[in-house]
Amino acid sequence: MTEIIDGNEVGDAIRSELDGCVDTLADAGVRPGLATVLMTTDGASETYVSMKQKACDEIGIEGIHEEIDPDAPAERLFDKIDELNEDPDVHGILVQMPVPDHVDKWTVLNRIDPIKDVDGFHPQNVGSLVAGHARYKPCTPHGVQKLLEYEGIDTEGKDAVVVGRSDIVGKPMANLLIQKAPGGNATTTICHSRTDDLGEKTRQADLVIAAAGYPELVDGSMISEGTVVIDVGVNRVEADNEKGYELVGDVEFESAKEKAGHITPVPGGVGPMTITMLLYNTVKAASLQEDVDVELP
Ligand code: NAD
Repeated sequence: MTEIIDGNEVGDAIRSELDGCVDTLADAGVRPGLATVLMTTDGASETYVSMKQKACDEIGIEGIHEEIDPDAPAERLFDKIDELNEDPDVHGILVQMPVPDHVDKWTVLNRIDPIKDVDGFHPQNVGSLVAGHARYKPCTPHGVQKLLEYEGIDTEGKDAVVVGRSDIVGKPMANLLIQKAPGGNATTTICHSRTDDLGEKTRQADLVIAAAGYPELVDGSMISEGTVVIDVGVNRVEADNEKGYELVGDVEFESAKEKAGHITPVPGGVGPMTITMLLYNTVKAASLQEDVDVELP
């Protein structure tokens, strides 16, 4: 029997534990604050940011939202980041990507105070993660790690294949899997757009994590019986419905489900975990900056 992993259920369990952390902070007179900054008119980015703000509100994190005109000079965004870095009520800062072409992304990532970098993309935080001392694990890979933990899936000694090498999902995912730590200790292969014969690699894996941004790239013929399949992909494909599109993952769910031991659906798998782990990092950021101990889940 294939087990369908429910990301909403695991996300809710972690959020209710985070509620307790927010109460502990409140007892110490601290309310965690998360600033989101949007410099785009992209509809999907606007939706992501409003979902993040709503989730903050639900567990008692103060959400601060800033919008910068996408045609404004890059300095406008940099000045806003400086202002938020200095604001004692803001513990976490998230600049929603992508930023416009005239804004250098690398400068943005470097400008955020690393202690407030709840995305975990600042080079200092990336370095700490690689060295095995992560302060803020990037939300999506951390969410995948928590999903596996809550489902009782041990990664130790397993052969894992991560499909995708982006800085926000693929690379940090692989870095978590190779750590000598719980949720790590996996023998890990990273596949990408230049990988020769992807199916040959994924068929040898006990755990496949698909994060390629390519609709239904991994199908049932590319995995072996009993494999754990985690689908990070969220792709809009044309559909004959009111919206004109539907969301599909990087895994062809129906055929993969026939073989997988465990599998995540899209939507309802990794997506809810990403937002949950952003709340986690914001609570952690408040705890670190205000020197209040909390018991994180
Ligand atoms: P990206 O475009 O930055 O990176 C995609 C990676 O996949 C690249 O490294 C590329 O080399 C690799 N790739 C592309 N085509 C491939 C192929 N045919 N075979 C093997 N590798 C291939 O994307 P990203 O930001 O890492 O996101 C990946 C997917 O995950 C997207 O669908 C995105 O929407 C989704 N995503 C979901 C969440 C969530 O919360 N569920 C969060 C982040 C990203």
